[in-house]
Amino acid sequence: MDHKAILNRLKLCIQLLELHEENPFKIRNYQGGLNALERLDQDLMDLSSQDLAAIPGIGKSILEAIQSLKETGSFSALDALLEQTPTGVLEILQVKGLGPKKVQVLWKELGLTSTHELMEACQSGKVAQTKGFGEKTQETIIQSLLFKATTSGKWLYADIEETIESLANHLRKELPTAQVGIVGDFARRLEIIAEGEYLIGSADLPAIKSRLTQLAGITWDKAISGPLTWRGKLEQPGFRLIIHLCNLEDFAAKELLFIASKAHLSSYVNEQETVSELIRKSKFESEAAFFQQNNLQFIPREMREGMGEVEQAKAGIIPLLIENSDLKGILHNHSTYSDGKHSLRQMAERCKALGYEYLGISDHSRTASYAGGLEIEKVAKQHAEIDALNQELAPFRIFKGIESDILPDGSLDYPTEVLRSFDFIVSSVHSVLNMDIKRATDRLLAAIHNPYTTILGHPTGRLLLRREGYPIDHKVIIDACAEKQVAIEINANPWRLDLDWRWVRYAMEQGVLLAINPDAHEMDSYDDMQYGVLIGRKGGLTKEMTLNALSEKELSSYFELRKAKN
Ligand SMILES: [Zn+2]
Ligand SMILES: [Zn+2]
Repeated sequence: MDHKAILNRLKLCIQLLELHEENPFKIRNYQGGLNALERLDQDLMDLSSQDLAAIPGIGKSILEAIQSLKETGSFSALDALLEQTPTGVLEILQVKGLGPKKVQVLWKELGLTSTHELMEACQSGKVAQTKGFGEKTQETIIQSLLFKATTSGKWLYADIEETIESLANHLRKELPTAQVGIVGDFARRLEIIAEGEYLIGSADLPAIKSRLTQLAGITWDKAISGPLTWRGKLEQPGFRLIIHLCNLEDFAAKELLFIASKAHLSSYVNEQETVSELIRKSKFESEAAFFQQNNLQFIPREMREGMGEVEQAKAGIIPLLIENSDLKGILHNHSTYSDGKHSLRQMAERCKALGYEYLGISDHSRTASYAGGLEIEKVAKQHAEIDALNQELAPFRIFKGIESDILPDGSLDYPTEVLRSFDFIVSSVHSVLNMDIKRATDRLLAAIHNPYTTILGHPTGRLLLRREGYPIDHKVIIDACAEKQVAIEINANPWRLDLDWRWVRYAMEQGVLLAINPDAHEMDSYDDMQYGVLIGRKGGLTKEMTLNALSEKELSSYFELRKAKN
């Protein structure tokens, strides 16, 4: 955190207070503090709490917020507001020309919860017809959305996927005699992407070069380009590009070199030679041929990170990775019982229509009042509705779950008799996110030791590109899950992808099952499962170690068995 980042977090907090129509005094209080800070001609980081407290306009709450921001990068009031705001609405809030009041209308009246939906609503003219907007505002929104690029130039994988792939197809069409491949971080399915990287192989490079300069929508930056490396920008949506050029006969080798991470390339295959040395010295026509010639098992692209995969390939123990089609059901989903957009029936019917055998519904527990968490009577009502739907939709099955808040002391959110009434419980942290590593780890450990926890939900609470997770000792948490046979979620929401893929292999080695969960708050979010699969594959996940690759029958006995132990 630096001076500017702290001011930005405070600004965001004020916007969110307005968005959620919080107490005007509170808003004025924060705004007054922020104004005072903006007038400062000193760096906030150089000032002690005492210095700050002496500045007129800085009240107690803002002082505490600054202290917490300095120490942890966040503060509890902001965390609570972020928790009750869909990530897509946060994105809309960043759109130029839209203040909290307008965003509130878009969200609450038009039901828009993503910039994608906002764009569609603008294009259909719906926004212009809404009171307080009009044609001009609608046009401004369209323009800002078109130019939208995250401040740091980094993108979530899911947000830039279509752009990267369609540019590859465009290049293939424009350069029909060339070979075009996507390389770099995107080819390895990294969760955050900073640039689109391509490889073009051709027998006539001069012709390719002149054709490239004519492509519309791309600006080339000569200063940072070389004869075989072109750097520039895709104008829409303002995304950095690198295009590597090579002769056709070098394509397979260059592709291997540009896809792999540095750590993978410098891994030793034998006592003398690294992967990169072998690529440069061998002659081969395809990726598969390279691995075969060097007595290595094929290493899937997403695994080429230098995290032990070369050793695994030498020993021939790279497992068969999970696929979308291996998933038999969808656990961890919300309905209108809490903060979901669609009813239990809608969620179930769509899930069934997609060909899954079961749905795990896990609305928020009662402490999550900001998300309409379920009071005990509502739990009973939901269970009765599930029983009726299960009769109607059989053999499709809805499992009765809850996403129980892990309270600050690590306890779960209902008395034992209520906890016992669920088939499964996803235990997650949603509040007080500013704990240090010791306290945050102990909090999760207490929840893991609770016999009713079936799945540990989004273990670090991170929101990629927006918020660091709370710090936890991953190893200690995974070991405890192994001991207590608690599964760990790979939250498949592109903002989360939490458990981080870097821990998947360790978890599997300890015998911990992973659950790929979309955390869907609406039917369309079932599609996010694919990102959980990608990130699971990146970590080496197999279907044998995936909880929701179990059939309805298998999962039903798994839950029964766990419950019988309590
Ligand atoms: Zn959650
Ligand atoms: Zn959830």
